[in-house]
Parts: sequence; structure tokens; C-alpha cells
Amino acid sequence: MTTQTLNHYIGGEWLSEPAALDSINPSNTNDIVARFPAGDSGTIDRAVNAAHDAFPAWSAGSPEMRADLLHKVGEALFANAGELGELLAREEGKTRAEGMGETLRAARVFRYFAGEALRRHGLTLESSRPGLDVATYREAVGVVGMITPWNFPIAIPAWKAAPALAFGNTVVMKPAEGTPAMAVALARIFAECGAPAGIFNLVLGSGEAGAALASHDGIAAISFTGSRGTGAKVGAAAMAGQKRVQMEMGGKNPLVVLADADLDKAVGIAADGGFFQTGQRCTASSRVIVEDAVHDRFVEALVKRAEAIKVGPALADDTQVGPAASDTQLEQNLRYVDIARDEGGTIATGGERVDCETPGYYMAPTVVADTGQDMRINREEVFGPVVSTVKVADYDEALAVANAGDFGLSAGIVSNDAARIRDFRKNVRAGMVMVNLPTAGVDYHVPFGGTRGSSYGPREQGFAAVEFYTQIKTVYTGD
Ligand code: ADP
Repeated sequence: MTTQTLNHYIGGEWLSEPAALDSINPSNTNDIVARFPAGDSGTIDRAVNAAHDAFPAWSAGSPEMRADLLHKVGEALFANAGELGELLAREEGKTRAEGMGETLRAARVFRYFAGEALRRHGLTLESSRPGLDVATYREAVGVVGMITPWNFPIAIPAWKAAPALAFGNTVVMKPAEGTPAMAVALARIFAECGAPAGIFNLVLGSGEAGAALASHDGIAAISFTGSRGTGAKVGAAAMAGQKRVQMEMGGKNPLVVLADADLDKAVGIAADGGFFQTGQRCTASSRVIVEDAVHDRFVEALVKRAEAIKVGPALADDTQVGPAASDTQLEQNLRYVDIARDEGGTIATGGERVDCETPGYYMAPTVVADTGQDMRINREEVFGPVVSTVKVADYDEALAVANAGDFGLSAGIVSNDAARIRDFRKNVRAGMVMVNLPTAGVDYHVPFGGTRGSSYGPREQGFAAVEFYTQIKTVYTGD
């Protein structure tokens, strides 16, 4: 396996700086995927300047030019999905199939926004005053900063950059330090597709570069996905500079299983939402809230399902769940298992590392039973293959538990009771509701986002993306 040397991509040029950081394969810690520089405020400055220089021509140019480029990027992602999916699996640790699926998703996001570039969302209205015309136009905002996480290293950059560019903005992106090779792969595709210099700039590095971007005077908006603690800092920096800000910060997503549910189906939904992609999805169902009447049978079946999952190296053909993405992530997962045990939970299965043929951050799918909503395992995001179960007396208690806590991203229910499903849909406090489906797994043409501590600002993705990536101008015309 080769080690790539990565560079920043600024103003259409590759800017090399001494490599300061490594990207390690979590399935084999002897494999260094890439070495890369740590950009600082000077690097961010150059990138923001390049994005500024590119903005007038890009925003004023034909929407067809923007649509053509986004379409080309989408097609290039499709054409290279095999190779990119493999690199993604090697660098982040999700399985080859998951890596390939994510790359195809990114391709489709670019295709979708190629269409959106041609749909300007203005309105014409009758004025309240006779003899006047009123119209609204949606204009580009300017240079948009983007700070992205490692868990979807091509899909999240795609769903931020594609709408930004579609509507005429230019971009400076700071990807996560865990997955720089995937971000550079995207930048290479922009370069190969003939993107005008400076419309998409990439600065590699750690949180220091992210902080410099969030507080840079030259950006008009910042879109962030990551942890809640970092989000609070990014939000404060954005407010101080009066920039638009959009933040996605995770969840503690409840899945309610009612007694009338098909148990087998409920177990499948819980396992899919809780364990796949190593549980490293902000929409993962990490709390399963089960009615008393079926609780014990459900836990027993979920344990069986968890124990049947093959954990292994991301690129091995029979692997169903890959490793945690990093040593710090694995340590965090194991620490939360200890905390849950100390607070009275029962580790029904898992809770420990798994040894595989290559040294990596493998962890057994874990079920923590006998937990209460007040325990930390049910209030804080773990971000690993760890599912806790909470026993409740009835639907009303299930809804109350589902609504507890600081997060509100995705909430699921498994039941055949139409009245309860309707009640849940209306009363659960979450941005996305899943009925008889895993809490994770979303479409790209509809809004994505949550309530309370999960999200801040306008929704991402699909037809909602126009809200954040454009600003409205209202024009009055008289005789
Ligand atoms: P995680 O703990 O999952 O890595 P973070 O929220 O720390 O989540 O990271 C998400 C992104 O935010 C990464 O690109 C990271 O480099 C960046 N980041 C970390 N600290 C800061 C900061 N203080 N300001 C801006 N960005 C940051």
C-alpha cells in the first residue's frame, strides 16, 4: 500500500508544505495512508483570498457553466467509485461496500445540484401599491467556509460544496485530519474537470486551521459538521463576525420498539441503525426504548444479532463492520462502556476490543441493557457500535424517554399501530422521523437536520440547501 503525500489546493494550484500529520489506516495501523501539512492562519488567508478572486466571475457567470461543472464532477465520481470507495474504506474504516455506496451518494449529490443550479428560486409578486412590481432574487452569499468531519469524508464535503457552488458561491474547505486523502481526491476531481481556479479551495490541517477559517473576516458564511463542543466554538466565532452559520452536531437518536411490532423486523432495524458503519453516524440509533412486554425477548434477539456480525478489516470481503476510525474514538467507546457499567448497566454483549489479522481499532458490537435515561450512555453521543436499551411501561413513557436529553436529530418507531405512529410523528422532538425504518439512512433530495443540540441554522441538503447558500434581494420597480 502506497503512502500519499498530500498538498493544499488553493487558487487552482497544489501548494506543498512540509508534512506534519499522518493519516493512519484504522484496519492496519502499520499502513500510513497519507502524510499531509497542517495549514495555519496564513494558509487559510491565501485560500480565502483565492476564493474572493474567483467569486465575481463564478457568481455572475451562466448557471449553465456551474451546472456543467457539477455534472462533470458527479460523473467523475461515478467513474472512479471503485477506487475511491476503496481509498475511503482504507482511510476511514468503513467497509468497501459502505465506502463505495458513500462515493456513489456523493456523485448523485453533485448531479442533483447540477440541476438545482438551473433552478433559481425567485418570485414575482403583485405589489401592495398599484403601479409597482416586486420581485425577489436569490443571490450567492460569497465565500463559504466549510469544516467537515471524518465519518462521511466524501458525502459531507459533497453535500456542502455542491449546493454552495451551484448557487454561485466559492468555497474554502477544511476537512477532518482523519480523512485528508478523501478530501484531496475530491479536489483532484475538481482540477481534472476544469474547475475555474479558486472556486474550490482545500486547506488541510487540524482544528487550528478550522478555527482560523471560522474567524476569518473574508468569509460570508460557515457550514460545520462535527462535535457539539467544537460547534459551540465555531458558532461563537461566526456570531462575532456576523457570518451566516449552519451546524450539524450529532445525536443520541432514540428507536422506540412497541409491543405490537414484528420482533424480528425490530431487531434488524435496531442492528442496522446501531452497528453498521461501526455506529459512526450522527443518525445512529444508540438508544432503543422497548416496551416491557417484549423487552427481554428483544434484548436476547439483539444480542444474538450483534454476536453474528463479522467485525474485521474494512477491505476484507467478509467484513460486515469495520474498525473504529481512530484510537481516540475506540478509547472513547470503551470508556463509555465502563461508565455505563459503573452506573448500573449490564453489558449484554461486546464492550471490548476484537483482535483481527492486522492491528487495528476493532470493537465488538455492544449491547448495554438495563439502562435508565438519566445515565450518561443515554445522554451523551458515544459514536461507536454501542446500543443501549431502556425498558418502558408503555407508549407514553416511551415517547417521554425519546424526547429526553439535549439532542433531536433522528427518531424512529417500530410498530403497526397507526394511531401511535401518528402520535409519535407529531410529538417526537426530532428533525427527522423514521417509521419502521432505521434512524440512519437518508435521501439526498430532502432536508437533513435536527432540533435542539443537534443542529443550528437552516437545514442542509436537497431543496432546503438554497436557504443557506443564497440570500434574498427584494426589488421594487416603478414606472
Ligand atoms: P471529532 O471529535 O469527531 O473529530 P470535531 O468537532 O473535533 O469532531 O471535528 C470536526 C471538524 O472540526 C474537524 O475538521 C476538525 O479539525 C475541526 N475542528 C476541531 N477543532 C476546531 C476548532 N476549534 N475550530 C474549528 N474547527 C475545529
